[in-house]
Amino acid sequence: MLNSYSGWAAAATGFMLNNDLLIVTGALVGSSGAILSYIMCRAMNRHFISVIAGGFGTGGGTPAAAPSGEAQQPAGEVVSVTAVETAELLREARNVIIVPGYGMAVAQAQHTVYEITKLLREKGINVRFGIHPVAGRMPGHMNVLLAEAKVPYDIVLEMDELNEDFPDTDVAMVIGANDIVNPAAQDDPNSPIAGMPVLEVWKAKTSIVMKRSMASGYAGVDNPLFYKENNRMLFGDAKKMLDGVLAELQS
Ligand code: NDP
Repeated sequence: MLNSYSGWAAAATGFMLNNDLLIVTGALVGSSGAILSYIMCRAMNRHFISVIAGGFGTGGGTPAAAPSGEAQQPAGEVVSVTAVETAELLREARNVIIVPGYGMAVAQAQHTVYEITKLLREKGINVRFGIHPVAGRMPGHMNVLLAEAKVPYDIVLEMDELNEDFPDTDVAMVIGANDIVNPAAQDDPNSPIAGMPVLEVWKAKTSIVMKRSMASGYAGVDNPLFYKENNRMLFGDAKKMLDGVLAELQS
């Protein structure tokens, strides 16, 4: 949105200065920013106006489907695993889907992710990446990081391309992602993110979530995924944890 505003401001300046080039370039930046904002609003199932007016979970905006009551509080037991146990689960898997999120970018863990992917593929394990349209903090954030780490393009898939494959997946490894894998978006109509399409990692045989704590993500909402019976939590910095997984896989 801010990119878009800067474009429109430049176009307005172009009118004031009678500068055609500024009008054209400003209009291009303004309209492309507006189109991108619209696409992202659709990906998050939110109204354009509510994004301008306020943030997630702050009560400042109106989600596409306005919640009428309190969001459910997730409850249950959280099962944590170690890097060694994670490596064991990966080694025994036939199909693995990796879901990267903002935490992978913060930890700069993409190169270790690539090393692990390479090792698993050499062992004949089918490894793919599931990319949510709003994963990270900017459009294409995850794709850029994975490309930088030389992860082959053909195993990096969009959410819609592999969301139906989770029931046939042995391990879904979530690396520093939270909102984009929150089942409350589907199950709880009162959740601030109700209706947002999410990657259905909980349908895999085992899901492993790598993050430092039980803290919420950008949207500020609790995640019931952490309490699911088939979910395991690998607590710690994503880079450190993945280094541990890699070392164990190599040994
Ligand atoms: P989230 O913000 O939902 O979650 C990221 C998680 O990463 C946090 O819960 C945090 O947990 C964890 N994390 C942070 N640092 C580390 C670390 N060093 N190691 C391991 N984990 C870490 O990110 P998602 O990618 O799941 O979702 C993106 C969110 O951002 C969506 O809500 C989206 O709407 C929003 N957004 C996206 C934009 C885009 O263009 N893509 C733009 C603006 C907003 P902990 O603190 O416990 O480690």
